[in-house]
Amino acid sequence: MSKLILLLFSPSCKPCSNNPFFVYNRVMKRYDDVIDFHGHSCPGLALGYRVSQRALKELKNRSEDEEIVAVVENNSCAVDAVQVMTGCTFGKGNLIFRDYGKHVYTFVRRPSGKSIRISVIWEKPVGTKEEKKYWDLYANGDRSKKVLEFVHSRKAARTRQILDAGDDELFAVTKGKSMLPPEAEIYETIRCAVCNEMVAEPKAQSQNGRKLCVPCFEQKGTKR
Ligand SMILES: [Zn+2]
Ligand SMILES: [Zn+2]
Repeated sequence: MSKLILLLFSPSCKPCSNNPFFVYNRVMKRYDDVIDFHGHSCPGLALGYRVSQRALKELKNRSEDEEIVAVVENNSCAVDAVQVMTGCTFGKGNLIFRDYGKHVYTFVRRPSGKSIRISVIWEKPVGTKEEKKYWDLYANGDRSKKVLEFVHSRKAARTRQILDAGDDELFAVTKGKSMLPPEAEIYETIRCAVCNEMVAEPKAQSQNGRKLCVPCFEQKGTKR
């Protein structure tokens, strides 16, 4: 049981590789796979798809475990594509989010440290006055049929443009070697002294010699 608990809270997932049900997937994912995960097609998703294709051209196979680390500088739709395409995921701990609001994506392969930094340079085309009027209506909450039709058709067109563009139109690329972030650690799991729920040891807070989960420590826990 304790081993199971330990694994449940492991940000890494190495034991999966020894699991007979673990399926290796070295096949390049398709845009449809990305839409399946994200829920819809959109320009942001298309950008993330193209960024990931470019990264994998450099770093080869997608990350089954933590062979590749991605540092993403935004939390837009694009990051969902990055997770599906590259295998750098929130759950595995090899997706690092920096809240800079920039369309910049850095990928590092372990153990070599070979890296590629991809900065998106593509800009959406400047619209006409008429188009601007529709975007403004949409931004102000207008969801009438006419406005929605306009927005959907423009988004679909932008998505197509991104999928069809050349790499040079989309990205500024820097290749090099990067310092590798340390691999995810496997943590002990303990029980919170107040709610008795399980918590990863490094996240537990000390209070009067007891170990508490963060919500209980901050008195936001549901069970008292
Ligand atoms: Zn989206
Ligand atoms: Zn608690």
